[in-house]
Order: sequence, then C-alpha cells, then structure tokens
Amino acid sequence: MIVGVKGSICARVVTSPATLLVTHASGLAHEVGPGRPDQPERLRAIAAALNADRFAALRRAEAPAASREAILAVHAPSLLERLEKAAPRSGLAALGPDMVMSPGSLEAALRAAGAATFAVDEVMRRGARNAFVAMRPPGHHATRENAMGFCFFNNAAIAARHAIAAHGAERVAIVDFDVHHGNGLQEIFWSDRNVLYCSSHQSPHYPFTGAAGERGEHDNIVNVPLAKGSGGAEFAQAWTEAILPRVIDFRPDILLICAGFDGHLHDPLGGLRLQRQHFAELTLRLAEIAARRTDGRIVSLLEGGYRPDDLAACVAAHVGALMGA
Ligand SMILES: [Zn+2]
Repeated sequence: MIVGVKGSICARVVTSPATLLVTHASGLAHEVGPGRPDQPERLRAIAAALNADRFAALRRAEAPAASREAILAVHAPSLLERLEKAAPRSGLAALGPDMVMSPGSLEAALRAAGAATFAVDEVMRRGARNAFVAMRPPGHHATRENAMGFCFFNNAAIAARHAIAAHGAERVAIVDFDVHHGNGLQEIFWSDRNVLYCSSHQSPHYPFTGAAGERGEHDNIVNVPLAKGSGGAEFAQAWTEAILPRVIDFRPDILLICAGFDGHLHDPLGGLRLQRQHFAELTLRLAEIAARRTDGRIVSLLEGGYRPDDLAACVAAHVGALMGA
C-alpha cells in the first residue's frame, strides 16, 4: 500500500476517465550541482509545456511518497538504509561517480516511486484511462541493491510489483525507449515470468548491458540494440518487428512505459537521431495495442532526456498522444 491513496482525488466520481498527470514540487528540490545532466530545469520545462491550453483536459495530481513496503518489494533494505544515511542536511553528498544527493533528494526519490504506484492505482481503478508521471530522479538503472545512473529507486519496477500485489495483475509489460538500456529492470525481472521487459537502446553505450542475446530466464526480456546514429526508420523497425509483437502476444493487464527522450537528435547523452514525432508515433502505436489488450491501461514514467527544451517538446508530443488514445 502507498501513502496518500485515499485522498480526495480517489473519492471523486470520474465520469469520463482522462489522462492523468502526476508530479510534485519535490522533483525540483533534488539538486545535483552544476554541470550534471539531471537538472531540476528538466521538470520546469516539462511543467511549462504541459501548462499550454491544449493540455487543459489533463487531470492533475500530486505525487505521494511511496511506502517502505512498496520500495522493499523491489529493493534490498540496505539500499534504502544507505540512502537515508547518505542524505545530507545541507550541501551535496556524492554517492558514486554519477550519483549526488542534496537535502531534497530522498523525498524526491520517494515521491517519484510513489507517483508511479499512485498512477497504477488510478489507472487500475479506472480513475484515469492512462497516466504520465513527470518526476525525477529517474529509475530504470537502479538495481535491487544499488542506485546508479542518476536513479535511486526503480520506479517502473516498483509500479509493476505494485500492479501485481495490490491489483491482482497477472502480467505486466514494461517497454523502454530511453537511449540507455534499463539494466536495473532487466536484473530485477530476469527470472519473473509475470513481467515482460522490452527495450530499444543505443549500443554499445552506458550501462553496457542489453545485448539481443540477453533474454531472461523465461524469454521475458527483449533487447533491441541500435547502432549510434540510428534514426526514426531504424527505431520504428525495431519496435514494429521485435518489440510490439511480443507485447501483443504477452497479453498484459497493464502497460508501463519507461519514457526516456534522450534518444533525441540533440540530446547531450545519446547518439541516436530521433525527433519528437518518432516518440509520438510510437506512443500512438502503444496506445492502440493497449486499447485492444489492456483496456487502454498505460502508465508512462519519465526517464531520461537532458536538453530541457527538446525534452519538454518530446514530452508534450508523448502526452498529447496519450490524451488522444
Ligand atoms: Zn537515459
């Protein structure tokens, strides 16, 4: 169970389920210092873009903090203890080569995970048709025991386990179009026949996992490496031929999206050549599949995307596609 589920939002009668946007100001208070990619400005740019008139129909909710129980359904207690101990009262504390904590980081991480479970609650209960979570830090690199790659808790993994434990979902599909491979998701679900994890990603590239031969204990992992310089045609081919048929065959009860936009042409951390229409086109195709296979249930979680203006434009295209689903 998560904190804050029984709030006024859930009590409200919703006659026509809409797209839900879940976010929280704490996402801005996770400071990482200058020169690092995962800046608060990313969320500011997204918030500004989603305040445009064409997003007036979005239902908006504040992210609750995840419970310890939800976190520990995925992560080792030692990770939570390490983060609680490392959180500084002032200034910045280094956790590793690419991990920094500020006084606001732990709350941001707890609410990023809580936003994911809250969105699952709303979508499973039909309080929303689908949902987008605009929070940071991101999640797909976090392993059972370790924070890494800007990720503290694995938000998508926590959402998937929550859908199964709290809502009786039998099969959860997670699709990931971030430019980086979600090594944490692959590790966590390697032996889990109830979860299908599918990723397209640049390869070779950080975190240097995700070869096509890495398929999971139950053939429940689908990795499609893309060469540096790949663009919309290669991306569409990867999804059309290798990933979408697997999602359809899996017959999931809910579809989770790791929505990373660092495959954008101008992103400083990626070498792919995608543009916002490619993300929108894929989102529409995922929404079509969800309409047929999951009664429309999609929860999409922000992962990467490190040039704020381009990120915001891509998120707007993605959320616009979810609203039109
Ligand atoms: Zn990424």
